[in-house]
Amino acid sequence: MNYINEVYENLKNKYANEVEFLQAVKEVLESIEPIIAENEELYRKNKILERITTPDRIISFRVPWVNDKGEVEVNMGYRVQWNNAIGPYKGGLRLHPSVNQSILKFLAFEQTFKNSLTSLPMGGGKGGSDFDPKGKSDREVMAFCQSFMTELYKYIGPNRDVPAGDIGVGAREIGYLYGQYKKIVGNYEGVLTGKGLTYGGSLVRTEATGYGLLYITNELLKNHNIDIKGKTIVISGAGNVAIYACEKAMELGAKVVSVSDSNGYIYDPEGIDLALLKEIKEVKRARLTEYKKMRPQSSYHEGKGVFKLKCDIALPCATQNELDLEDAKALVKNGCLAVCEGANMPTTLEATKYLQKHKVLFIPGKAANAGGVATSGLEMSQNSLRLSWSFKEVDARLKEIMINIYNNMAEVAKKYNLGDDFVAAANICGFLKVVEAMLAQGIV
Ligand code: NDP
Repeated sequence: MNYINEVYENLKNKYANEVEFLQAVKEVLESIEPIIAENEELYRKNKILERITTPDRIISFRVPWVNDKGEVEVNMGYRVQWNNAIGPYKGGLRLHPSVNQSILKFLAFEQTFKNSLTSLPMGGGKGGSDFDPKGKSDREVMAFCQSFMTELYKYIGPNRDVPAGDIGVGAREIGYLYGQYKKIVGNYEGVLTGKGLTYGGSLVRTEATGYGLLYITNELLKNHNIDIKGKTIVISGAGNVAIYACEKAMELGAKVVSVSDSNGYIYDPEGIDLALLKEIKEVKRARLTEYKKMRPQSSYHEGKGVFKLKCDIALPCATQNELDLEDAKALVKNGCLAVCEGANMPTTLEATKYLQKHKVLFIPGKAANAGGVATSGLEMSQNSLRLSWSFKEVDARLKEIMINIYNNMAEVAKKYNLGDDFVAAANICGFLKVVEAMLAQGIV
């Protein structure tokens, strides 16, 4: 059996029920075949694949808190510290009822390569809880965040592990988490990113993932002689990534006709009203059914189906495995030119292969959504320097990072005759840097 299959089969036997984790590992391992072929002896000797598919540690803990009725509730909390070969662990915290160890392992594994792609010195990690912030009062969210941090603080630090936001964790949650960390540890330090602007946050962090997604999408299109201006874009999700992807897409002259949440999607043929979307999601924290009430020319559709809409470009920005084979077939049939992933692993393996086979340009999340963590890296730099850069300066650095990621992938694709296979190119770029650092640091 070849080395890749050996490692994958072993993981499959050990973690048979961790489907998301196995899916992420399979995608990475399959696509780095040319690199393994070149270095098999060295990698085998140093057990590189075994080590890179095993987290440094997984911390799991009980999170008790008291709800507004005075009742005690208990959730599970996790932090997966995957790999710190190139820098302190870095990756978001997700608060969603679906959170489990498999999902956090897939996210932390992916994060390791994503962070490497940004060219900033950050290792990979991810954490979160099965707590659902939806429908909770501010006091309940604060009680949860304080209890979560009371355990987590032991394992993080500005040079050790720097968490950030993800699904269900925005400025409000980061504020409560930071307040509790500071109260316990007593140090005013950059232990979290995504902080508010008055206490160490960076301009552009809120917009970064969505903006970065559009910077790299635009670069991809430009390099294939396609103008984004006038193109119709379908976006899924209606959270942080989706909203700012929408904003930048519109700025670049494209028309965004949809957004979605876990209940359904909006189709607005005249183009999404961004101010209204922000009011509903960022201010009122309400559902998308509100959008239809305020914009009668739009329609609201229960359930899945957003990728069945006709579009030139699709940007999945909600969650993992939201774009399946049926969606991919509909996109191809409707003449979609490009799919770039704002979310982490939103496209199933079969759907990715189908899109690539049918020549739809495809950039995977670990490259396309790296703008968020890259800007978190810039927040860490500003915290260390005790400086705040202007919006223009951070935005320019973000754009440069995204264009560099594209160029690095294009270079690797050329070197290994990968054509437009940016999945393989992203994995190879991210993998090589981490492995070089691991080899240099010995068996640890
Ligand atoms: P938010 O919590 O702000 O928004 C998530 C959006 O996706 C919401 O509209 C939510 O709908 C929807 N969603 C969540 N779970 C599901 C589900 N199971 N089925 C359908 N829709 C769902 O999260 P973000 O925008 O921050 O994150 C979105 C994605 O982008 C995630 O995959 C995240 O890991 C990834 N990402 C985020 C980064 C960031 O900087 N924020 C950086 C890099 C990647 P509802 O409100 O109904 O739950």
